[in-house]
Amino acid sequence: MRRVLEKYSNREKNRAKDFIHKITRVIAEAFRGYVHGFEDLNKEKMLNKSRTHNRNVAKSDWKTIISLMSYKSRVRLLNPYNSARRCSSGMVNAPKGALYECKGCGLKIDRQLNACINLYLQMEGLSPSPKLFTELVKRWSGFTLTGGEADARLR
Ligand SMILES: [Zn+2]
Repeated sequence: MRRVLEKYSNREKNRAKDFIHKITRVIAEAFRGYVHGFEDLNKEKMLNKSRTHNRNVAKSDWKTIISLMSYKSRVRLLNPYNSARRCSSGMVNAPKGALYECKGCGLKIDRQLNACINLYLQMEGLSPSPKLFTELVKRWSGFTLTGGEADARLR
């Protein structure tokens, strides 16, 4: 029984690795010459009391993603501190849910997008501010701020 489980578990791991190979190749080709920033995450520090959360953290293979990406393009590791908590226009607060609603400035933005903007600012050596945020959003026309907006577009 154990051998059977091992066989399927290995098959699943290979399938995941194969997928990471493919997706990193597509990203590297689409953004040739770019530096790709990744959060330098520490799995042990991310564990909490939720079993589901811990299982998802354990399953995620960021190290492999970063390693395979670094064969194909330049990679920079970024400090994840406050990346998800800081509002990308400045203030640090920690609203819950997929939609990040800042208590300071009222910004409503997709939680993941907010974290990505913070990491981008870190890569560029910039500090988040409302003025900078407005400038960036103006330049990046065509992306939606919230999941709700994306849903509305699909309807
Ligand atoms: Zn804010």
